[in-house]
Parts: sequence; structure tokens; C-alpha cells
Amino acid sequence: MTYSYDAPVSQTLFDRAAVVTPGGVNSPVRAFRAVGGTPRFMVSGTGPYLTDADGREYVDLVCSWGPMILGHAHPAVTEAVRDAVGRGTSFGTPGQGEVELGEEIVARITPVDQVRLVSSGTEATMSAIRLARGFTGRAKVVKFAGCYHGHVDALLAAAGSGVATFGLPDTPGVTGAQAGETLVLPYNDLDAVRAAFAAHPGEIACVITEASPGNMGVVPPREGFNAGLRDLCRENGALFVSDEVMTGFRVSREGWYGIDGVAPDLMTFGKVMGGGFPAAAFGGRADVMAQLAPAGPVYQAGTLSGNPVATAAGLAQLRLLDADAYARVDAASLQVRTLVSEALAAVGVAHRLQVAGNMFSVFFTDTEVTDYAGARSQEAFRFNAFFHAMLARGVYLPPSAFESWFVSSTHDERAIERIAAALPDAARAAARATDESGV
Ligand code: PLP
Repeated sequence: MTYSYDAPVSQTLFDRAAVVTPGGVNSPVRAFRAVGGTPRFMVSGTGPYLTDADGREYVDLVCSWGPMILGHAHPAVTEAVRDAVGRGTSFGTPGQGEVELGEEIVARITPVDQVRLVSSGTEATMSAIRLARGFTGRAKVVKFAGCYHGHVDALLAAAGSGVATFGLPDTPGVTGAQAGETLVLPYNDLDAVRAAFAAHPGEIACVITEASPGNMGVVPPREGFNAGLRDLCRENGALFVSDEVMTGFRVSREGWYGIDGVAPDLMTFGKVMGGGFPAAAFGGRADVMAQLAPAGPVYQAGTLSGNPVATAAGLAQLRLLDADAYARVDAASLQVRTLVSEALAAVGVAHRLQVAGNMFSVFFTDTEVTDYAGARSQEAFRFNAFFHAMLARGVYLPPSAFESWFVSSTHDERAIERIAAALPDAARAAARATDESGV
């Protein structure tokens, strides 16, 4: 498929990238495989805008998949990074920034007594699972279809297929042994969790869930679902692990915990807390965290964990995230999703705007989506046409129908107006789209 607008410099870079890197990207979601076309190579970002290698500017509704909640190149974050870099970039010793970032997280998130810093969300969930297994002495892990917790071997048994249900690997390279202790259940289905505990008494170490899923599109937990998980875990001696890598410090000061108040045993964080740098964390109950080396026997480590530049960026960002900043993000989110819904309704395209705090996504279906099967039954081909029409008009959406959209505190009236101007044509493109053509 060819598109009527070109990005010759991005195309050249993509061709070069494909020679030295599989698929031309360093993380699959960046490729335009789902929507077709050439990924845009970005060269700079300011506030709500990105500029690509061809000199085209976009309103950014991806925000680096969540982290850039204050927009790109925020002056205070940039200054903190400059300052940290000038003092050296890695020491391999403890440092003050790590203490302060740890204190900031513990102060914000009530259920977190102690925290360990790592470099990616994947490391955070991998370590939390290991700790849960070490603490309980049990092997099995329950996860939900459609929830993504990074590319941890045991957690890649993810799709809602029958194969995944039996804990078989979803990707070549993950062995049956690695995924065999993973039970994949339908999201929002407490009966399935109850049945899993009944079928495996004394064997389940933990239930891990996205606090409010954003990796199958936005599919919030039903009223009482997270509380039900917490109660079932408690009744059965398992740990409740809430993955807030995406929602943490984004949907409120205290992440999703700040919205539903259900206290997990362990939590994982990433994205926003790194200020655009590789910093992530897991934390929780003091008695569980005490099992972690060197305090306890469960090993976990990292050469660049608590890196001084990353912690400086994260701290600067978190300290700027006051009630005002969240109010601006929430307001921008409401404006964008209202405009999207109005534009699609105006041309009669069936859709659902699903919302979790200030995260949202559009499903091309007329029924509420409550699990992965529902997400997959939408007319994703309409999204592809919509995506390309928005891109051509200077709005950068996530290149997949199964991702959350993100706004920042810098998405102001001018940025919103540009989105509003692009929407009518994009909605018409979605209306015209057919399953065969994709556009
Ligand atoms: N957990 C959730 C909920 C995520 O959304 C992601 C990434 O998108 C991860 C874990 C993995 O984080 P990372 O990409 O930093 O390894």
C-alpha cells in the first residue's frame, strides 16, 4: 500500500535501519506494521509537538508511550538533566538521587513501604514476579489476556487463544517450561480467578494485572474487579501485584491506586517516573521487600539501576506533577476525546471512547470492550485509515488500534485546534475504510 504523502528522509533512514536492525526498529511498536507505511523518524520535540526528519511537525498523542506527561523538553527537566550530566553519568555506587526518588515514590503511594529502582518496566515486573515466587515459595502466576507486562518470558503467554490459556509460549524462544507456570485468564472475570485458585490450591504465587489496562486499548477494570483480586489473593495466600508502569504517576498523583484505592502487595512503575529516561521501580509491603538481596535471599541487581541522570530527570518530573499539572492533563484528555467522538459520530462511524483517568483510546465497535476478545473484535481496519489521515494532517497517534493515547500538560488550545482541524477528514476516512483496503 502506498500513501499520498511521503517522508523521504524517514524512508531513507528506515531503509538504513533495516540493514542493521531487525525490522528497522528497536522496539516493535514503533514500526508501522499494523497500520502500514513508513515510521516517522523524529528529530526533536517541544511541548506537545514532535518534528520528524523531513521537517514536518506533529501534535504528539503518544508522548513516548506515556512518559512525557509534561511535554517534550520541559525546561526544568532539561535543566535537572544537564546539571546531573555535568556531575558524571554513572558511579556504580549509591547516590543521593536514588534516595530522593525512592522517598518521593514511598511518600506518594501509600501501599509502597519500600521500593527498588531498576531500568525498565520489564525488569520491574520480572523482579516482582521473582520476589512473589521467592516470598510465597510457590511457582504459578496468574495474568490476564490482553495485559502486557513487558517482554518477560513467563508473561508473554498473553493472547487470548486456547494455546495461551494452557500457558504455552506465545513467541518462539520462550520454552514451555518458562511459560508453563503461567495461567492466562480473561480480563474482568473474577469467576475465572476463583476457579484457578480452586484448581491449583497452594500453588499460585501471585496474580499480576495492569492496574487499569492500556495495552489492548483502554479497558478499565469493572467496579470491584481489582478489590476482588486483592481479596481472592488474600484468601488464598497469594500476592496481588498491580502493574502501574503505564498508569503510575500518570492518571493521578498516586496513579490508578489514587483512583480505586485498592492496596496491592507489590506494585511496578516505569514511564513517567523516569522523565523520559530509563528508570523504573517495583515496591510494596515491607515484609515482602525485605526478602530482596542484600536484605534477603531473592537476588536482583542492575549496573545502571538508580542511574544519576535518570533519577534526576524522574525526580524533576515528579516534583512538577502537582494538582495543577494533573488538571491540565485531564482537561486536555477530555477535550481530545470529546472531539474524536463528535467527529466519528458526525459521519456515523460506530465507536466507543474508553477512558481510564486521562488515558483513553477509541474502539471501532458499538459495544463496550471489557476484555481482550472484545478488543480484538473491533473493526481495526477503520483505525488504520483514521491513523494515516491524522498523520497526513500533522497528528501523531499510536500506530495501532490496541494502544492507549496519551496527552501532556502542554497540550494547549493551539494543539487541540490542530487536532480538531484534522479530525473531520480522518473520521471520513474511517467511515470509507473497508476490510480489504485498509484505507
Ligand atoms: N507494564 C506495562 C503495563 C507496560 O505498559 C509496559 C510497557 O509498555 C511494561 C510493563 C514494560 O515496560 P518497558 O517497556 O519499560 O520494559
